[in-house]
Amino acid sequence: MKNVNTHLDQRVNNAQGICDSLTHVSSICSRLRDLSISLENLELADLVADLQIGLSVSHTEAAKLTVLLTKLIIENNKIKLSYGHIKGMTFKDYGYYSNEGDGPFCANCFKNHDKKIRLTKMPSVFTSAGFGKFSCSECKETY
Ligand SMILES: [Zn+2]
Repeated sequence: MKNVNTHLDQRVNNAQGICDSLTHVSSICSRLRDLSISLENLELADLVADLQIGLSVSHTEAAKLTVLLTKLIIENNKIKLSYGHIKGMTFKDYGYYSNEGDGPFCANCFKNHDKKIRLTKMPSVFTSAGFGKFSCSECKETY
């Protein structure tokens, strides 16, 4: 699920970048329109005005998409947090535990593959080297 969120975060950044680009292009259009008026080319001024309207509509739609993506990320995070409770599991410290206290089980395997893989305690030499306290034999994730 981490990959899904990273992917969504990138999309939000892309949508915000599109909004910024449209704002920049709109400011260029304003300068073009002023120039066309000073050149007394009203046909060009009208075309640039139409272009500005189109840009404004696109900017509004891109902003709406940015808001929608942000809401979806928040909703996705809420679902992820409640996922363990739905399955009768609770996340604590390093992994998921059953309601009977059995565990810890790998969070990555549980959330992404619906598998209950028991975490194994890492040897102290790895723990002191900063590799984490537990590891998963299935996905090799360390916690
Ligand atoms: Zn795992």
